[in-house]
Amino acid sequence: MPPVIAAAVMGGLGLIFGSFIAAVSVRLPRDEDIVMARSRCRGCDLPLRPWELVPLFSWLALRGRCARCRTPISRRYPLIELAAGAMGVWAALWASGQGASAFMMAATAVLGWQLLLIAIVDGENFWLPDILTLPLIATGLVVAMAAGWDIALSRLIGAGAGFGGLWLVGWLYQAVRKRQGLGGGDPFLFAGAGAWVGWVGLPSVLLWACAVGLGLVFGMLVVRRSVGATDRLPFGVFLAIGIWLTWLYGPLGL
Ligand SMILES: [Zn+2]
Repeated sequence: MPPVIAAAVMGGLGLIFGSFIAAVSVRLPRDEDIVMARSRCRGCDLPLRPWELVPLFSWLALRGRCARCRTPISRRYPLIELAAGAMGVWAALWASGQGASAFMMAATAVLGWQLLLIAIVDGENFWLPDILTLPLIATGLVVAMAAGWDIALSRLIGAGAGFGGLWLVGWLYQAVRKRQGLGGGDPFLFAGAGAWVGWVGLPSVLLWACAVGLGLVFGMLVVRRSVGATDRLPFGVFLAIGIWLTWLYGPLGL
């Protein structure tokens, strides 16, 4: 497939998945039905009609308001759809640059969309639900199995090492500082990291995560001039970025 066509297809798919990601990221923390519930306007509660559900374009055509009651529709919907579209394009361009198969391109996009959803939910709620992290582990192992049993074995070890490693870090932190430093979902997300990049990639994921986290703290210092020791940081967002970059560009060479 020519790179331009692949990018267009994956970008379009990304917009559609983005629409789903945006809905799930709102419904999951409210404990609402994720799959079956029809999308409704938060203002007039009327179900949205098909032409009001076209990713990105509906929001632009309606200028960000409900067609019936004119309640503003949050900008988060088109932004998340755009972000998911960008992840799809990124996956397509990466695959053509690597000479990777269509399967690996699709796998990369699926990883990107999962990480996007995980990052949004954790960034907004400081919550890494199992219903998002366990599928990340499962899809990583399925992709590994398609690559061969020896790779699958090393990714399985990676998942175990990721879970055990971060669980241990959390346990030590709690023992020393007498307060919880890591969320309960972080070890599961790091297990997902191991399932996708193998144990060899785990240090790189952590390095990226720490670099992004330090960058954010530095940014907060510049803007607010203070960061408290109890300011919570969404570590899952940093890990998600680390997994994505390590998957695309490989473990950092030392
Ligand atoms: Zn409405």
